[in-house]
Amino acid sequence: FQINMDEIEVLGELGKGNYGSVHKVFHRPTNVKMAMKEIRLELDESKLNGIIMELDILHRAKAPEIVEFFGAFTIESCVYYCMEYMDAGSLDTLTGGGVLAKDQKDGEPQTNGDATTNGNTDGTTSSAQERVPEDVLRRITAGMIRGLKFLKDELQIMHRDVKPTNVLINKKGEVKLCDFGVSGQLEKSLAKTNIGCQSYMAPERIKSETANQNPTYTVSSDVWSVGLSIIELAKGCYPYPPETYSNVFAQLQAIVNGAAPTLPPGYSDDANDFVAKCLLKDPNQRPTYAQLLEHPFLVADKDAEVDMVGWVNAALERRAARGISSLNPIQA
Ligand code: ATP
Ligand code: MG
Repeated sequence: FQINMDEIEVLGELGKGNYGSVHKVFHRPTNVKMAMKEIRLELDESKLNGIIMELDILHRAKAPEIVEFFGAFTIESCVYYCMEYMDAGSLDTLTGGGVLAKDQKDGEPQTNGDATTNGNTDGTTSSAQERVPEDVLRRITAGMIRGLKFLKDELQIMHRDVKPTNVLINKKGEVKLCDFGVSGQLEKSLAKTNIGCQSYMAPERIKSETANQNPTYTVSSDVWSVGLSIIELAKGCYPYPPETYSNVFAQLQAIVNGAAPTLPPGYSDDANDFVAKCLLKDPNQRPTYAQLLEHPFLVADKDAEVDMVGWVNAALERRAARGISSLNPIQA
C-alpha cells in the first residue's frame, strides 16, 4: 500500500539527527504506530523521485534483525520515510548519555564523565549507569551481525552507518538495524555534510574519504563500526577520548593512528577477543560475518537464555530516572 501524509497523525518527536527528525506517528488506515523520518534535501523533483524509487528495495528487506519499512513519500523538498516504531529507542539512549548529547553544549562529552584515556578507564560506572551484562551484550551483538549478514547476502548492500543510534530495540527485547544505505542518490545528497563529531568510520574509510578518492572501503568497514558500537554500549560513552569530541581532526587522527579502544574491565576473554578482531586496523584481517557468528563469543549466545525483556525494562527505568523520556510530546 501507499502511505501519504493525510493518513498520518503525529504523536510526538522521537529524536533528531543530523539531517532531520524522527516522529512517532499513527497511520489511521492500518491502525499502526510508526516512526516517520523527515529528511530535508535541496533537490529537484526528479532526484527526489529517484530516491523514492531506490527506497523501494526496502520492501524486500524483511528480516527479524531489520527495522521494517512501510513506505516513503515526498512533500516539497522533504523525503518522509515510514518504518516500524521501536518502543525502547536506540542503544545510545539505553545505556549512555544518548539524547542528552544533542542537548548539551558544544564540545561537552555526552558521558557520565569517566572516559579519560583512550579506551581505558578504571571501569567505574556512574550511578545512572549499570554495566551491560555480557549475555545481553552478546545477544545484541549477534543480532547486529545477523542483520548485517542479511543485508550483504540478500540485498548485496553494506550498511555504511553502523552506530548506536541506528541500532534500535523494543520492549520485547528485539534488536534491529535501521538507516542502512539503500539509495545511492540519498547517500550522495547526505554525504560530506558531516564527517566527525563522533565518528564510527573505520580507519581505511576515513583515509579514503579524506583523500577524496573513489571509495575503496568494503563491507569490513562495517565490522569496525560494530566493534566500536559494542564498546560504546559497554562503556556507556563514545570510546575515544572526550578531548576529541570537539576536534574532528584529533578524533580522526586517533582512529587512524591511535590504539584501538577496548572493552571496560569485567568482560570475558572471548568478548575482548571478539572486539579486538572487529577493530583490527587492516580491514583484510577483520573476520567476515560468517566467521564472527562462529566466534566463541557469539556461539555462546546460540542456546543461551537471556532476559532481554528484563534488561530493556530496567534500562528504560534508569533512562527515565536520568530525565530522558522516549517521547517529547508536541506542544500544541
Ligand atoms: P544521524 O543523523 O547521524 O544518522 P541519528 O541516527 O541519531 O543520527 P536519526 O536517524 O534522524 O538520527 O534518528 C534520530 C533518533 O530517533 C535516533 O537517535 C533514535 O533514537 C530515534 N529513532 C529513529 N528511528 C526510530 C524508530 N524506528 N523507532 C524509534 N525511535 C527511532
Ligand atoms: Mg539514524
